[in-house]
Amino acid sequence: MSTIVYWFRNDLRLADNVAFAKACQSATRLLPVYCHDPAQDVQQPWGFARTGAHRKRWLNAHLRDITNQLKALGSDLVELHGHPIEQLPMLAKVVGAGAIVCEEIAAPEEQAQVAALRGAAVQVDTVWQSSMLHPDDLPFSPTELPDVFSTFRNLVEHESILPRAPLAAPSKLPPLPDLTQVYRQLQGSETQDSQTITNITADARSSFPYYLPALAGGEGAANAHLANYLARKLPHSYKATRNGLTGVDYSSKFSPWLATGAISARQIYSELKRFETDEGANEGTYWLWFELLWRDYFRCLHLKYGRQLYRAGGLSVQAVPAHDADKFQRWCRGETGQPLVDAGMRELAATGYLSNRMRQIVASYLIHDLSGDWRAGAAWFESQLLDFDVYSNQGNWLYIAGRGTDPRGGRRFNPVKQAQDHDPDGEYQRLWGVV
Ligand code: FAD
Repeated sequence: MSTIVYWFRNDLRLADNVAFAKACQSATRLLPVYCHDPAQDVQQPWGFARTGAHRKRWLNAHLRDITNQLKALGSDLVELHGHPIEQLPMLAKVVGAGAIVCEEIAAPEEQAQVAALRGAAVQVDTVWQSSMLHPDDLPFSPTELPDVFSTFRNLVEHESILPRAPLAAPSKLPPLPDLTQVYRQLQGSETQDSQTITNITADARSSFPYYLPALAGGEGAANAHLANYLARKLPHSYKATRNGLTGVDYSSKFSPWLATGAISARQIYSELKRFETDEGANEGTYWLWFELLWRDYFRCLHLKYGRQLYRAGGLSVQAVPAHDADKFQRWCRGETGQPLVDAGMRELAATGYLSNRMRQIVASYLIHDLSGDWRAGAAWFESQLLDFDVYSNQGNWLYIAGRGTDPRGGRRFNPVKQAQDHDPDGEYQRLWGVV
């Protein structure tokens, strides 16, 4: 008889959840939990809360969805409020669990949590599952990962490395352990999140209006969005539209659900392949694969370099410019005086989403025009983006700052030229009230 605690992290789904499937197979009783870590609510040294209202609301929608799914299968989700390294061992003890199973996250804080749990003599089994390609299937070990993305992509494509097939959701779950004691301990520890969560309004200008049912949080909405994106044959136009700035359709909008784990990259890949078989492959379908490979690449970089990516200089030896709080705050508020940058920063704060092109432009402006500290910018994105993903955020900021592995040493996007190329009639800038 073994009771297992399943700790949901950034994998809030039942289908194609390898770690969850493993826990279901080996447990006679299974307790699914999610831990609201107060570390996510701390005030950042840069002067704002670590998790903003959009991301909280987005996460909350996913927690409601997965709770309903678990309940429909006779289980439930226990939500803990406190540091995982204190809460989880306590819970495991109360229900007599022999192990905690969870997905592996190769970022320093998340790894430290697992190490601390193991240090407290708790058995923790982690399972890698957040990439499209499994690292074990790559033609090199993590330490031999090429430092240039194109070399990585060429090797993957040359060796025809493909994602493993996604798993179906379990049709049956192990029963819950006796929760009487757990509920007794949880009484009174309810969340204070609701105030922050309701404190935002729908913005019709959003490119990801997640208050609409079609773009709601949760596994069902994620799969419906993917099916709808393919049914409307949008991959065919993706390459041509992906640098757009406004509207839902210019890019796939998979990232918000990928970030919470409501859908996996290999589920997306598998449906994209089916689409190619039925509708034909072209530059657009290839480009979606290409972008998902970038996502994998930043994961692999973490496997290779780990916490080195979190040093002020990143992988470089360059000094970091002094933080200018006033300039930084003007950047955050969209009041730099550079119209395109200000439009982007206002969109980000108002909606929790920003196009890839605008992310590049505003990040470059902070780093290369305002001589700001890239870590403050990355922290602001972490707070604001509802699709915040630790690997992609860190990786992209390092890349633009020239502190990652990119041999070209940083990317400056000239905002005047970018406006001419991507917003020639000023429509986007007018939308955000800067011209
Ligand atoms: P699409 O253009 O439709 O791309 C399809 C998918 O490919 C995306 O969902 C994403 O999973 C992946 N992808 C595309 N571009 C990139 C990229 N440059 N790096 C990694 N993966 C990519 N993406 C996040 O998911 N979370 C972040 O926290 C994040 N922070 C970023 C910070 C900066 C400074 C920059 C420049 C980019 C960042 N990105 C981040 C990458 C990219 O901007 C978003 O993934 C993309 O805009 C999401 O919209 P989409 O799903 O419509 O993307």
